[in-house]
Amino acid sequence: SSWHEQDEQRFRHHHHHFVDLALGHSVERYLKELTKAPHVAGSLEDMATADYVKGLFESYGLRTGLKDYEVLLSYPVERSITLLFPNGSEVSLLLTEEPPNAKAIPPFHAYAPSGNVTEEVVYANYGRQEDYSKLDTMNVSVSGKIVIVRYGAVFRGDVVSIAANAGASAVILYSDPEDFAGGGKGGFFPDAEWLPPTGVQRGTVYQGSGDPTTPGWPSSPNGERLSDVDVAAVLPQIPSLPISANDALFIMSSLEGEVAPPDWHGALEIPQYRVGTGPVKVNLDYKGMKKLTRIRNVYGIIEGSEEPDRYVLLGNHRDAWTFGAVDPNSGTAALLEIARRFGILTQHGWQPRRTLVLCSWDAEEYGLIGSTEWVEENIDLLAVKAVAYLNVDCAVVGPGFYAAATPQLDMLLKEVAKEIDDPDSQEKSVLDTWTASAKGKPMVTRLGGGGSDFTAFLQHVGVPSVDMYFGQDYPVYHSLYDNLQWLEKFGDPSFKRLIAASTIWGLVGLRIADSLIIPFDYRNYADELEVYTKAVEKILPENGLDESVSVEPIWSAIQNFRAAVVQVEKEVEVLHKAKAGSANFYELRLSVRILNDRLLQTERAFLDRKGLSGAEWHKHLVYGPSKSDKYGVSFFPGINGAISAALTSGNWGLVQHEVWKVARAIERATVVIVGQL
Ligand code: GLU
Ligand code: CA
Ligand code: ZN
Ligand code: ZN
Repeated sequence: SSWHEQDEQRFRHHHHHFVDLALGHSVERYLKELTKAPHVAGSLEDMATADYVKGLFESYGLRTGLKDYEVLLSYPVERSITLLFPNGSEVSLLLTEEPPNAKAIPPFHAYAPSGNVTEEVVYANYGRQEDYSKLDTMNVSVSGKIVIVRYGAVFRGDVVSIAANAGASAVILYSDPEDFAGGGKGGFFPDAEWLPPTGVQRGTVYQGSGDPTTPGWPSSPNGERLSDVDVAAVLPQIPSLPISANDALFIMSSLEGEVAPPDWHGALEIPQYRVGTGPVKVNLDYKGMKKLTRIRNVYGIIEGSEEPDRYVLLGNHRDAWTFGAVDPNSGTAALLEIARRFGILTQHGWQPRRTLVLCSWDAEEYGLIGSTEWVEENIDLLAVKAVAYLNVDCAVVGPGFYAAATPQLDMLLKEVAKEIDDPDSQEKSVLDTWTASAKGKPMVTRLGGGGSDFTAFLQHVGVPSVDMYFGQDYPVYHSLYDNLQWLEKFGDPSFKRLIAASTIWGLVGLRIADSLIIPFDYRNYADELEVYTKAVEKILPENGLDESVSVEPIWSAIQNFRAAVVQVEKEVEVLHKAKAGSANFYELRLSVRILNDRLLQTERAFLDRKGLSGAEWHKHLVYGPSKSDKYGVSFFPGINGAISAALTSGNWGLVQHEVWKVARAIERATVVIVGQL
């Protein structure tokens, strides 16, 4: 048999063992410990979770390390919202969740500036650009006003910045029972999965990634920092606070003015949703403090045997707004479960071909800070050595597997999903239910400019990345009710989904770490590039521009890339057939390494050193941040940014330039994957 087959057989044995070890899991123990107290970034409780994770990694035989940074975090000091009625009466909102927990950080928005605003209120639906356009058509101005917005459409940091750009003076965000309590008729936690009417969603309103005082470089204790003025410029410009449905009811029921458009109506118990303005006024008084604070990443390493200098990274954040049973410690428990199983495999003689690195990030909730600082510190090392970054944030929020990834990883994800029983229907594989639930739409979605810790790896360094989880709806997100009881009762009774998540995550890691040839499918990347190019081709004539801008350079680049990929597939076949004992074994190993390096570096070619204009830290030319939603993705962000700009400036030459940049990136990818001068 061939070297590859022998190798496969050896590893297959360990990989099966990894799957079987699900039986002895101890995730409940991990979760109990991790969620026993709220552990927001920078707290003693959060530091204690770092020690806990490190101790377990060590006990499973991993080489562990801590990596601390000093970063700017934000905490609430004083919050009040008071309604001032035209008749002179006043009502102050409670602003608490029930039952209150003295140790949990009160509901607030990280990095919101302090401010004291008294103004009339306007309801702006989900607070997207289109919602303000709608208000415009209704002749309702938000200029100087406080806007009240319901959560649920875009990243809250974008809600605040869109409001500020529209001229609002402050933002109140609330969780409407339509979006967070199934319409409000079906009860709520602890009786049902829904967010109680006192529940509040905390969260950051910072739009960047990483410590705001060190954009692009690591937050070392004595390192360079931006000036306060420069920091203030990148932080939110107007104060904001999150509130509960109960508190929102007071404001929403007091609004007069025009009836809101039909699709703006939620499920608060009021006769009509009205947009205002006023006549009620609101006094919003917020004091926050910002403080350089120590945060702590933890890592655990299993050295590779053949390619110790090639890293397969598995990462999850550890800090939580409250108890964090789902977000993020269901993922932390999955990571610890993987460490446990890896430890047992090691005792049975397994050593990965490449190095596996388990990462436990801090301060994700503030803006992906722990992972971003680490990536910024290790950027050149990672650019050369990182094979893939596999992220899991909330491992389980309900049934059904979801994954987002760079396209060369789709095939591997599906292969692994095929091998694992679906935790919610034993006769079916995860792949079966995943395929069925996608209903013909793409099964793997694409990663964008934020949302979790894959961001720096993909956007800043071009490391092939995955983000995966079970479930979709998660009403108690960032509230006091994200606790173990919610997880055990609603998110994942008996932890079967969490175990499946550990198994899939670990197995994807094992396959990338142990395969002789890195299992990257670049044919699928070529297919995807075609899809995005067609989309650009479609929107250009819609703007009357089929003549002046041509995407032909991209088509020709994709064609060359595809031809190179076909050659690579042939090379892989040849190497897979090679005999291990042959006289040229030394050359054979070298050929494998050279091919792997080409596969590893190909994604990097999609980066532009200068970065996207206006978002220079983001360097990926295929997947970039969406301008209106940090959770979203923009395909060919440079081209699309130039198109939006040209619609007002008429500068279509810039669009052509961005087209050329993408074409050249794809040509560079071809050069890398061909691997010869
Ligand atoms: N996961 C955090 C949130 O959704 C941070 C996301 C980000 O900053 O991109 O609030
Ligand atoms: Ca930084
Ligand atoms: Zn999270
Ligand atoms: Zn979160």
